Amino acid sequence: MPDVLSPVEQRAPGRWQIGTVTRIKRETPHVKSFRIALPMWMPHLPGQHYDVRLTAPDGYHAQRSYSVASSPLDEGQIELTIDRLEEGEVSPYFHDVVEEGDQVELRGPFASYFVWRGEDPVLLIGGGSGVVPLMAILRHRRRTMPDLPMRLVYSVRSSDDVIYADELGDDSLLTFTREPPDGWAGHTGRIDGPLIADALTPSATAFICGSNGFVEAASQLLLGAGVDPGHILTERFGPTGSMA
Ligand SMILES: Cc1cc2nc3c(=O)[nH]c(=O)nc-3n(C[C@H](O)[C@H](O)[C@H](O)COP(=O)(O)OP(=O)(O)OC[C@H]3O[C@@H](n4cnc5c(N)ncnc54)[C@H](O)[C@@H]3O)c2cc1C
Repeated sequence: MPDVLSPVEQRAPGRWQIGTVTRIKRETPHVKSFRIALPMWMPHLPGQHYDVRLTAPDGYHAQRSYSVASSPLDEGQIELTIDRLEEGEVSPYFHDVVEEGDQVELRGPFASYFVWRGEDPVLLIGGGSGVVPLMAILRHRRRTMPDLPMRLVYSVRSSDDVIYADELGDDSLLTFTREPPDGWAGHTGRIDGPLIADALTPSATAFICGSNGFVEAASQLLLGAGVDPGHILTERFGPTGSMA
């Protein structure tokens, strides 16, 4: 493991704490990023998540997990990126109610096997908001080991749905499953064998994140391409849903 990652050791998550939202950025019509300052911040491993807890006046709690999008080099703060789900309890609250300066209760970072510890080469495969923990990995690698081979394959429905659009460079390969932008000459449709073959480096460790269906399909493609099952790490965000 490269030395540069060694300060970020996996530890037990901290206690519940009250963070302050310092910046809100609209990423897409349905997705916002929230930068949150934490009084008991501790460095996370790229790929880890926090739990967020909302409490109603009658004491009812709703708790959900959100991946950290930022690099652990951003001391004292984390960024969460939240997709607004219609009929949801927690994500619409963040979108419709939370403003800069507000306080939110959260706890983490949570240990998970879905963490990047400096392995290389790396292939990241994300569908929709599944790109969030992958962006933490990509951002951390750009700041610590920019020469380390890492590709992102990112599946979205349309150009309106591209999260972190201004940060996707030569290391990112997009595919549009519904409406590609005008003049798009790249890949369209769901992630498939040829797209994986374009991005895959032999011996890569793969991180796949998205809906259950997306993760299942992408895992099968990697296995079909001969990737060792022990080199495929997956994170599932929710019920079977969009394959984007
Ligand atoms: C480890 C982990 C990390 C996560 N990181 C992120 C993240 O970085 N960004 C992010 O936006 N979400 C993330 N999620 C999903 C998040 O925890 C919530 O499930 C999501 O925000 C929905 O919560 P809600 O209260 O708004 O909706 P709920 O009240 O839980 O659900 C509302 C409706 O939407 C459906 N639903 C719930 N979750 C999903 C989903 N993920 N996809 C499609 N339909 C769903 C439910 O079946 C229900 O019908 C993560 C989940 C896990 C387990």
